[in-house]
Formats: sequence, structure tokens, C-alpha cells
Amino acid sequence: MTTTWPPNFPVVGEGCNLMAEWVRKMSGGRMEITVYGGGELIPALEGFDAVSNGAVEMNHGAAYYWSGKLPASPFFTAVPFGMNAQQMGAWMISGGGLELWQQLYEPYDLLPFMCGNTGIQMGGWFNKDVNTLDDLKGLKMRIPGLGGKVFAKAGGTPMLVSGGEIYTNLERGVIDATEWIGPYHDYKMGFHQVAKNYYYPGWHETGPVLELMVNKTKFQELPEDLQEIIRTAAYRLNRWMSAEFDAKNGAYLQKIKEETAVSIKAFPGEVLQGLRSATQEVLVELIESDSFSKKVYDNYQSFRKQISGWMDIGEKEYYSNLG
Ligand code: CA
Repeated sequence: MTTTWPPNFPVVGEGCNLMAEWVRKMSGGRMEITVYGGGELIPALEGFDAVSNGAVEMNHGAAYYWSGKLPASPFFTAVPFGMNAQQMGAWMISGGGLELWQQLYEPYDLLPFMCGNTGIQMGGWFNKDVNTLDDLKGLKMRIPGLGGKVFAKAGGTPMLVSGGEIYTNLERGVIDATEWIGPYHDYKMGFHQVAKNYYYPGWHETGPVLELMVNKTKFQELPEDLQEIIRTAAYRLNRWMSAEFDAKNGAYLQKIKEETAVSIKAFPGEVLQGLRSATQEVLVELIESDSFSKKVYDNYQSFRKQISGWMDIGEKEYYSNLG
């Protein structure tokens, strides 16, 4: 198993190591998975090709890393202002999302599994205050993917910066802002030492699904019990990662509040509304240029409409009134 994460990366890398252990135990030692961090066996973002051509049997990462090849892939991780982790799980498992994901990967001999979720992320670290949409104009922010495209539409300048270089770039003013993940991972990166404001919510990644992809031919060659063991381990890892992210983010948000001088602030409604309109433009461009994206978008939107009707009087009502 190759991964897009640094070796033993908190939660996600650690989780892949755990999955290898679960599979070894469940199979009575018949199946051994060797986990490689990004760059150890192949470069971090070459898992798609390596698993597709069978050089590697499986890869853990996120579907939106493959958007250069498959423009529809972000729907299976996260689109800005998209569904939350709970809704993504329902769409994937019981709403047809996983079937569409499998169709998208079929021509590449790949079988995708939902395998983790970071939960909603934070909006990011800023040295300036963000009071109006104008405050985003010309702002250099490390924000990848569709979120970056939306940020550009809103007048910002999205920057591509690899994980290892963000801290220094922020410290030296090469970038004005950055998003990363949530309180746990962000604290470990030390961003509170080089930025004043920590904004929420992570409008660009509202419940990103992580991915395990397996070479389909090799998977089908396995005896049925080993196939089921992989499915079961992926399912367990999916749940384990979500729980770890949620629990650790709670603990580390408290730590950031208690130990640092950072201001934790909500984006003003005007800013979120502006970014939301820009998102609509970006998504329309996407579905007009790619027919599979249109197919996924229609399914995603109709599922979302239905589940929102339910969550509006359930989850949302409960939390907005009772915190
Ligand atoms: Ca992120």
C-alpha cells in the first residue's frame, strides 16, 4: 500500500499501519500489507497510475488528487460548500455515491473504497483580518483544488505550497494565509507561531472523504474471504479515522485556546455568501465541461436536497437551539 501521506502521518498514516495489522490478524497471516509513506516507494501523488497499472496493489489518499485526470473526482472527496461528513457517508454507502465513484474508476482497473473522513476542516490561518470580501483581494493563500479556484474567483491568489514549506512561507510572508486541516494537525505544524487569526469554518472542505483504491483485477483474483477482509478493514478504518479526527480536533482546539494568543474567528456571513456564489460559478464551469461531472453533480445535489430536508429539522435544529 502506497500512500499520499508522509510516513506515519498523524491519524491517516497511522491508520494505514493499523489496517495492515487488522488484515494480517483477520486473515490469520495469509495477507500481509506493507505500507509506504509518500515518496518511499513512489512519489506521493503517483498512486493512481501505480495501482492502475498494477505496480502497486493499493493506495491510500483522496480522490481529488486525481482531478487533473478525472475532473469529477473532487465530488468523491469534497467540493466547496458541499455535504458534511455524516451526509457524505450516507450518500456514499446508501445514496449511490460509491457506485458512481466505481463507474468513474472502472476504465482504470481501480476499485475505490471510502476510507476515512477529516470532518469539516478549519478555514485557515490569516495574518490579516477578513471582514469583507475585499479583504480577500490579492491575498496570497495556500489553498489547493476547487477551493483555490473559488478563492481566485473571489479575487484572491491561490498558491500551491507543499506541506513541508507552508510554515516558512507563512513566516516569511511569501504567503499571507494558509489552510491545512483542523486544530490537531494545524497545531502540530506550529501555525499558531506565525499567524494571528484562525478562521472557521472550512467552507472549502466540509467533510472530505479519504480513499483506499485497490487494483480491481488483483482484488478479483483474491479468494472471497480475503476480499471481504479488505472491505471490512477499509470500513473499520473509515470509522476509526473519523473518530480520531473529531476527538483530537476537540482536544487541540482547547489547547490552542488555552496555550496560544491566536484569535479564533468566524468568517463574516458576507464573506461566506460571496465565496458560495463563486463556488456556484466554478461548479457550473465544471459540469459544463465534463459530462461525468454533470452526472455526479445531479445525483449529489438531489441526494443533498433530500437529506437536508431531514437534517434541517433534526441535526440543525437541535444544534442551533441547544448548542
Ligand atoms: Ca485542507
